[in-house]
Amino acid sequence: AKAGVEKTCVARSQELQDPDELDHKGLLEELAEAIAAREIQWHWQPKIDLLHARVTGFEALVRWVPHDSGDVSPEQLIRVVEQSPLIEPFTILCLDTVLGQFATVHEAWPDTSISINVSARMLERPSFVENVLRSISMHQINPERVILELTETALIAHPAQARRVVEKLHQEGVRLSIDDFGAGFTSFGYLRDFTIDEIKIDRSFISRCTQSTFDQSLITSLVVLCNSLGISLVAEGIEDESVRALLVSLGCPFGQGYGISRPLPFDHLQSWMVKWNSSPHSLPAYSPESR
Ligand code: C2E
Ligand code: MG
Ligand code: MG
Ligand code: MG
Repeated sequence: AKAGVEKTCVARSQELQDPDELDHKGLLEELAEAIAAREIQWHWQPKIDLLHARVTGFEALVRWVPHDSGDVSPEQLIRVVEQSPLIEPFTILCLDTVLGQFATVHEAWPDTSISINVSARMLERPSFVENVLRSISMHQINPERVILELTETALIAHPAQARRVVEKLHQEGVRLSIDDFGAGFTSFGYLRDFTIDEIKIDRSFISRCTQSTFDQSLITSLVVLCNSLGISLVAEGIEDESVRALLVSLGCPFGQGYGISRPLPFDHLQSWMVKWNSSPHSLPAYSPESR
């Protein structure tokens, strides 16, 4: 498991060392046009209460449709956006699109929340807080239904500023989540210094947990930690029923993953919800061929 964590960290830092990889393809211009034309979309991945299989919320994940085949991954897209002046229009488009859609979802399913990913550079922008609060009020959403997912690197980059931003948003009721917990430079200091509402255990600890007693011990200790601090705990990357069942037995309350649902185009969400609510416990066995 340790080797796995190191590999993840090394892979992520190498990615960051090569920020210009896509510029020569003229992708920046293409991306600017796509943002202006609102051609960027967000897919919705349901998050459930693992014990009762009840849907508690959704995570919005960016998709650039012409590149959906995989030539530009969401992570690459975000990296390009972050290195460019497109960061501001991208952030505004994300907030307006996703929160606009959530306004209708929330009407139909009032107990759900919406999670939006925020990267370091987005958090750093002086207008970030204002953009978030404006979009929330424009769409008349209860701020407590909005969860911002921050990676540890986003918190590390400029801790003092990140803390101010996070505190301001928190005062307004917005919830904060630490994404990919355990994969980066996790420190207990962040749990002390930031008011964190949710932790998402990195997929690397979930995918092998049925075979790894080490990963199981880690999950168990996070369950204890989160229970005593009043933090909500979410497992990412649940791909089959055996993993969900194990997580329930370890006391992990919430989860997401392909085994529950892949990220869905917004248009498919309603019918997925109807189907899920009519037979919520039929978590399919994971099989790569059936995707
Ligand atoms: P993340 O926030 O940790 O999102 C989880 C990623 O894991 C998503 O990949 C999702 O499709 C994938 N995933 C979900 N369940 C499973 C599973 O069971 N198995 C496996 N193997 N993978 C699963 P995606 O959509 O490619 O996004 C990758 C990353 O890109 C995200 O990681 C997030 O850091 C970033 N990202 C995506 N959308 C946005 C956005 O709108 N804004 C920002 N700032 N970052 C975004
Ligand atoms: Mg996330
Ligand atoms: Mg994650
Ligand atoms: Mg991630």
